[in-house]
Amino acid sequence: MAALPPDDFDLLAPHLQRMSFGPDAVLVRMEEQFEHVYFPISGVVAFLVEMSDGHTVASTLMGSEGAVGALSVLSSLRSPVTATAYVAGSALRIPSSKLKYAFEQSAAVKHVLRLHLGTQLLQLQNVAACNAVHPVECRMARWLLELHDRVAGDVIQLTQEALAQLLGVRRTTVTLTMNKLRGAGCIKPDRRGLLNIERTQLEGIACECYGVMRGRIDRMCSQELSCEAGGNGKVSMRPSEA
Ligand SMILES: [Zn+2]
Repeated sequence: MAALPPDDFDLLAPHLQRMSFGPDAVLVRMEEQFEHVYFPISGVVAFLVEMSDGHTVASTLMGSEGAVGALSVLSSLRSPVTATAYVAGSALRIPSSKLKYAFEQSAAVKHVLRLHLGTQLLQLQNVAACNAVHPVECRMARWLLELHDRVAGDVIQLTQEALAQLLGVRRTTVTLTMNKLRGAGCIKPDRRGLLNIERTQLEGIACECYGVMRGRIDRMCSQELSCEAGGNGKVSMRPSEA
């Protein structure tokens, strides 16, 4: 939304409603229709794939850079994932029908949402490759860096279940992995069960995927958003008004 010219943002503004969500809040469930699209202002939302054997695995994370349910502008398909908050926060939400109307009316809205969906696809491809070849502690370090990017400060509150979902492993493996990361100085012990992030150490453990994904997304956004607003549907970055 911060990248939209004022006239295009005005298509959305009357329909935006501010709301807050707690940890574990479900914004949309797998196989349900998208009733709303959420633009997080703070907090972190995980996209979870629920398997028939009961396993739940996280595919991507989203914070204030994205829109939960943006896929609904392309089709009337039901949600392929469950979107659950890992970190409490707030969001602006809009009925998906209103966003779809703006998508069809505004070249700038269309351009920004296509770019956003493109960055999501890029992340999904990279996470799939990462899950196939990189060790569990390197993947955990990558996820923790991604969480750290989306919260204020260095302290994250995350359940064992959420950590297991990020890695697609049992809780015993989570415990062993977290012990390794603590031993490497990536996480400071905390009596309250919070994760005190030591970013520099985490960056030393994380697999290449963290930097690769970040670099590709930054390049994609800077290329696509560098053009001035105009009739070609391109937009320029401007400070967030959300
Ligand atoms: Zn990786």
